[in-house]
Amino acid sequence: MGYEHACYGWQGSRIMNTHDCDLLVVGLGPVGAVLAALAQAHGLSVVAIDKSPTHFQLPRAAVFDHEIMRIFQTLGVAERIEPLCRVPENYKFITASGETLLEFPVAAVGPYGWAETYALHQPAVEQVLRTRLDELGVRTELGVTFLDLSQDEEGVTATLADEDGIRGIRSKYLVGCDGSWSPVREALGISLDDYEFDEPWLVLDTIVDEPGDLPIVCHQICDPERPVTYMAMSGKRFRWEFMLKPGETPDEMLSDRRIAQLLDPWDCSERITLERKAVYRFHGLVADRWRAGRVLIAGDAAHQMPPFAGQGMCSGIRDAANLAWKLAAVMRGEAQAELLDSYQAEREPHVRAIIATAIAMGKVVCMLDKGAADGRNAEMLARKAAGAQDVSIAYPDLVGGFLTQSKGAGSLFPQPISADGTRFDTLLGHGPALITRSFESDVPDGMPQLALDTPKLAPFAPAISAWLDGMEAQAVLVRADRHVFGTGETGQLMRAWAGEARAFVA
Ligand SMILES: Cc1cc2nc3c(=O)[nH]c(=O)nc-3n(C[C@H](O)[C@H](O)[C@H](O)COP(=O)(O)OP(=O)(O)OC[C@H]3O[C@@H](n4cnc5c(N)ncnc54)[C@H](O)[C@@H]3O)c2cc1C
Repeated sequence: MGYEHACYGWQGSRIMNTHDCDLLVVGLGPVGAVLAALAQAHGLSVVAIDKSPTHFQLPRAAVFDHEIMRIFQTLGVAERIEPLCRVPENYKFITASGETLLEFPVAAVGPYGWAETYALHQPAVEQVLRTRLDELGVRTELGVTFLDLSQDEEGVTATLADEDGIRGIRSKYLVGCDGSWSPVREALGISLDDYEFDEPWLVLDTIVDEPGDLPIVCHQICDPERPVTYMAMSGKRFRWEFMLKPGETPDEMLSDRRIAQLLDPWDCSERITLERKAVYRFHGLVADRWRAGRVLIAGDAAHQMPPFAGQGMCSGIRDAANLAWKLAAVMRGEAQAELLDSYQAEREPHVRAIIATAIAMGKVVCMLDKGAADGRNAEMLARKAAGAQDVSIAYPDLVGGFLTQSKGAGSLFPQPISADGTRFDTLLGHGPALITRSFESDVPDGMPQLALDTPKLAPFAPAISAWLDGMEAQAVLVRADRHVFGTGETGQLMRAWAGEARAFVA
């Protein structure tokens, strides 16, 4: 590593230019766990803390997508997570009588090398991530609460509390992955932009013995009498979400009697174990700043969204993938700290586009007026019949950050699979890679080159050549997070990467 790392104890408020670790991750939910693991894999020394002695044991996210499975692949855990999940056939919005208003098909293999959607049990996936942290040597400290922080030009000093009392820890950078209430965000005085979508829903997580005739589907039931979300998750786990109507209170909805009434039409009350009941307010919030000096926020700390698109956790894990290699590049002295500003520049528009989609979906579902719902149904059915519905669930490319102005820049590079089932990313490491049509001898040291005319690349050459043809390019430079930095000619790309065109590269 090209930077110093030393371990020294807490020494009160005196500014220390030695560090206990490169990166302190506050909060070990899925986002903190992925960030800590990726950062450690990039060569940083990482300490990750969580106030809770164990990972959250109850389900939250019901689905995640292929981009996220690809990040799990980079972390070396996709093969462990895949058997824990179920691939749904589709995601449907249906009327009260069961007529399909909108259907998003789920491809068994999408462009990024994995099924487009997976239904999961979040605690099981988080357990795999925690195990991976141990394997990678991340120092995790549980039962440790972040209280406050101060920062200076050399680092961040965080004040922590655990059963032994109050102590400090000094890191070069700190990332708050500490969830929706984010004490790190609070400590920085960062405010939230509110989309003013605010709908209360009762969420019931259940285990159903002998699920038998319960449909194995993911449905939004757009019934103006009572909008309902129904999700067959993995194994015997099923989720129901019921929208609260005006005048209904959380206490009333959480009563056993009311829950039994709500589940009655599903005819499974004898077989159900209720794992969790909670009333959530589904809303859209985005932090106005995601970085303040050496402190950044990610995941629910930076943004929250209604769950109709199944993208809250996914968006946070994308944050982690975007940030990990940038922190490593800055701490290795390969880039100036301004590279970290490209994190919010790239991620915020992406997150806002997803929030807009999730809220639009929510507005379709959360319609309580019968006349309006009839109108919605008629319009959606007409558009469906005309083939005019967009059912792709494609999110935008990154724009405006650490990217060149070239065709395909900011898109996620595809992941072809060879005839023997090998995924392309197995040829990539944790860093960037230059993919060329044929071997080029003038690629600088330190930039891995994958030439399509070499035997190793032969199984993938047809798919990647076709992609390069579409970009009218000789080469593509793919970043560590698998996004395309740029396409074009090698010399041009390397100059841009090395900093001639980018102010923030050292
Ligand atoms: C009903 C529901 C359905 C959802 N469905 C989906 C879905 O289908 N797909 C999807 O992608 N997402 C979904 N989500 C969203 C998803 O669950 C969250 O976005 C995700 O869990 C956020 O992860 P995170 O790591 O940012 O935060 P969290 O998981 O909240 O983790 C934050 C961590 O920080 C710790 N912490 C907090 N304060 C401190 C402190 N002071 N000191 C130390 N540690 C601290 C906490 O203990 C916690 O472990 C859903 C959410 C809900 C509620």
